[in-house]
Amino acid sequence: MKVQLAERLRRADFQGDFLEMILVAATKPGIISFAGGLPNPASFPVDELAKAAQEVLHEDGVIALQYSTSAGFLPLRRYIAERYAKSGIILDPDDIIITNGSQQALDLVSGALLDDGDVVVVERPCYLAALQVFHLYNPVVRTVELTPEGVAVDELREIIERDKPKFFYSVPNFQNPTGLTYSEAVRHGVAESLRGSDTMILEDNPYGDLRFRGLPGTSFHTLLGEQCLMFGSFSKIVSPGLRIGWIACTNKELREQIVSYKQRVDMHTNIFGQMVLARYLQDCDLEAHIEKIKELYGHQADVMLGAMSRYFPEGTRWTKPDGGMFIWAELPEGLQAVQLADAAAKAGVAIAAGDPFYEVDRGVRTMRLNYTNCDDGAIEKGIRILGDLIRKMQQ
Ligand code: PMP
Repeated sequence: MKVQLAERLRRADFQGDFLEMILVAATKPGIISFAGGLPNPASFPVDELAKAAQEVLHEDGVIALQYSTSAGFLPLRRYIAERYAKSGIILDPDDIIITNGSQQALDLVSGALLDDGDVVVVERPCYLAALQVFHLYNPVVRTVELTPEGVAVDELREIIERDKPKFFYSVPNFQNPTGLTYSEAVRHGVAESLRGSDTMILEDNPYGDLRFRGLPGTSFHTLLGEQCLMFGSFSKIVSPGLRIGWIACTNKELREQIVSYKQRVDMHTNIFGQMVLARYLQDCDLEAHIEKIKELYGHQADVMLGAMSRYFPEGTRWTKPDGGMFIWAELPEGLQAVQLADAAAKAGVAIAAGDPFYEVDRGVRTMRLNYTNCDDGAIEKGIRILGDLIRKMQQ
């Protein structure tokens, strides 16, 4: 039998192939991996979730094991709305749709908004799994350079005026892959370019809570209201295995369409998981838990940054993140990150070459380094090995 795959799967998936390579390299026994984007398992509240799961089953077992509603468990949506209120963003629990991680949020919103050939705008470089999801819907993908201050506003404005994109996908805080954060001036500039247009902004913010330096920036929702959809996730602050994230959408018509689309796709997000999470959030102090994660990641970031300044040769440059999980490094001129990734894998270190984070560019000099999933000794050793290899490649 010949499997007759749909066109959307017959198209090349450069990002997926690359991701597979990264995962294979990163999961080899004994390897030091800076390649993935995994939270530190030391941060998982295993005992607290075990207790919450017991309580949910004992007290509300038949609800937790029954079908439920597509928008999500109301106490969890209420908790999320109340947490936004603490940062000055006023939402109704009904504005929140619970999703299977923010990854599903990307898919649902793409499904609700995109027709073949529609234009979307992303950062350059961009979170690679967002590129993958968008490509399922066959859009034209435009990219805007991400500078150390945030996205290049003039370039964005031009694209919005010329191409009338359906949306701009933005990760303004501790972006994946670069670790960069938009300045206030850039946030206002972006909002100004979008205001009055029909282009939505998808503000994806899975790392926003993990700020270990500086002060939080203004959300696009504060600047643009319902033109901004906010995506959030419990993956980086509680557990990614729970697969629980959300969309905050204050436009009623769009929200109803997204919920209806979700109902057709998967009925609803695992209600047992939602109830366990809601119980955990009710009984434990999430903010204290996040403080501990920030302390851990801030320390790990500093260990990696310190090692990079000791071992990386002149001409190598890198970002200094104020939060999140990633550092983005650029090799000296003439070198390619894929070559370093190959040599590093042989020497026992996995890194993510920058290529799959770009829509078009290949053979790039940039690479993503994750610092949250190795101990201090492994970070020091891995960076030393990378430094030696870069020097060798320069000869
Ligand atoms: N958006 C960004 C920017 C991410 O880095 C990730 C996780 N790597 C996600 C969305 C998806 O996260 P999740 O589905 O676990 O919430």
